[in-house]
Amino acid sequence: MHVLISGAGIGGLTAALAFQKLGHQVTVLEQAHFLEEIGAGLQISPNGMRVFEALGVTSRVEKDAFRPKSQELRFGKGGARILTIPLREASYARWGGEYLHVHRADLVEALGGALQDRQAGALQLGRRIVSYAQDAAQVFAHLDTGERISGDLLVAADGIRSAIRAQMIGPDQPRYTGHVAWRAVVPVSELGPNAPPESACVWVGAKRHAVTYRLRRGSLANLVAVVESKAAPAESWTATGERDQALKDFKHWSPVIRTILEKAVTLNRWALYDRMPLETWSDGRVVMLGDACHPMLPFLAQGAVMAIEDAYVLARLVSQAENPASAFRAYEAIRKPRTSRVQAGARRNAKLFHRGDPLSQLATYGPIWLAGQLLPAFAHGQYDWIYSHDVTQMPDTAA
Ligand SMILES: Cc1cc2nc3c(=O)[nH]c(=O)nc-3n(C[C@H](O)[C@H](O)[C@H](O)COP(=O)(O)OP(=O)(O)OC[C@H]3O[C@@H](n4cnc5c(N)ncnc54)[C@H](O)[C@@H]3O)c2cc1C
Repeated sequence: MHVLISGAGIGGLTAALAFQKLGHQVTVLEQAHFLEEIGAGLQISPNGMRVFEALGVTSRVEKDAFRPKSQELRFGKGGARILTIPLREASYARWGGEYLHVHRADLVEALGGALQDRQAGALQLGRRIVSYAQDAAQVFAHLDTGERISGDLLVAADGIRSAIRAQMIGPDQPRYTGHVAWRAVVPVSELGPNAPPESACVWVGAKRHAVTYRLRRGSLANLVAVVESKAAPAESWTATGERDQALKDFKHWSPVIRTILEKAVTLNRWALYDRMPLETWSDGRVVMLGDACHPMLPFLAQGAVMAIEDAYVLARLVSQAENPASAFRAYEAIRKPRTSRVQAGARRNAKLFHRGDPLSQLATYGPIWLAGQLLPAFAHGQYDWIYSHDVTQMPDTAA
C-alpha cells in the first residue's frame, strides 16, 4: 500500500518506519521546512524502547542518550528523598527494555535518518495538509499549495492541533488543564554543586512540581517545572517566559531547581492541554494516532511513548487485515482502553504531586516512603502495567 502520513513528529516517523518495515511505501508530509524539535528532553520508557528495537533503530536512538540511575520522588523545598526506584540496572530485567532520556532533536534525527536511509525521499518537508477527501479506492491529502496527493491510507500524526482531526470530528478546542510548564535545558557544567541527580527526579510541593533529568550522555540538565494557573498563556513550543516569574513560582525551592531557572538562556513557558477520550479515531481510509487523538498531561512521561506504541500496532493491524476499516476497528479496540488509562493516570499524578498542607503530605507521602523502605518490589510494581506492555508481541487479531 501507499501510506500517507501527516506530520514528522515522533509518532509520524515511528509509523513511517513501521509501515516501511512491513513492505509498504510511505510518504510523510511535514509542514515544517526543517526537521527540528524544541531543544528539550524526552523520557522513553521500556514499552517504547521495545518498539524501537523491533524497528531496528535502537543503536541510533541510544547514541547520545542518558541512562538514569533511578526514578526519585523528593520534596521541592529541602530536597528530602521520599522514594527511589532503581532503573539503570533494573529496567531491562524487570520490564524487558532500557529506560532512556533523549534530546528530542536527537530522537527526531535518529528516526528521520533511518527512514531516509530505508526509503529515500519518503520524508517531504514544507508540505502542510489542510484537508482530505476520499472515494472507495483512494484517499487524497490536500496541501496548502493546492496540490493533491493520493494514497491508500492517510495517517494523521499531526499533533494536538491536528487539522485532520478537526475535519473528522469537528473544530473543538483541546481542554486547558490548569497547568503551566516552564521548560529549560542547561549544561551541567554551569550548575556546579546544584546539578540535578542522575535520576528521573520528581520534586513535589503545594500546587506545583518539577521534574529534572540529564540528557546527551549526562552533559545537559533538563527541567520541566509545572505550576497550577487558572489562566492559560498562549500555547506554543517556543513562547519564552519571564525569568522573574519562574523564580517567584519556585521561591524557597531546592537550589537545584532555582539554579537551572537562573542559568537558562531560554525559558519556555508552555500551557498544558489534554482532551477527553474521543468517540472515534478514524473515518474511512483516514486514521489518527498520538497527540492528534489522545493528548495527555506529561505527568507519566508517556505521550510520545503512546504515539510510538500506536504507530506499531496500527502498521501491524493494517498489514494483517483484509481492509482498512477492519484494521482501524481493531486498532481502536486495542489502543483506546490503554491510552485512556494512561491519560487518566497522568491526571491523577497532578494531584499526587501537588499536595499542599502538611497533613495531606504526610498521609500521601508517608505510605509511599514506607513502601519504598519495606517493599521495594511493590514500588517497582506500580509501573509494570505501563512499562511491561509489549506491543511487539501482539497476537494476530485482525486477520
Ligand atoms: C512539558 C512536556 C513534557 C513531556 N515529556 C514527555 C516524556 O518525557 N515522554 C513522553 O513520552 N512524552 C512526553 N511529552 C508528550 C510528548 O511531547 C507528545 O505526546 C508527543 O510529542 C506527541 O507526538 P506526536 O507525534 O503525536 O505529535 P507532535 O510531536 O505534536 O508532532 C506533530 C507533527 O505534525 C506536524 N504537523 C502539524 N500539523 C500539520 C499539517 N497540517 N500538515 C503537515 N504536518 C503537520 C507538526 O509540525 C509536527 O512535526 C511531554 C509533553 C510536554 C508538553
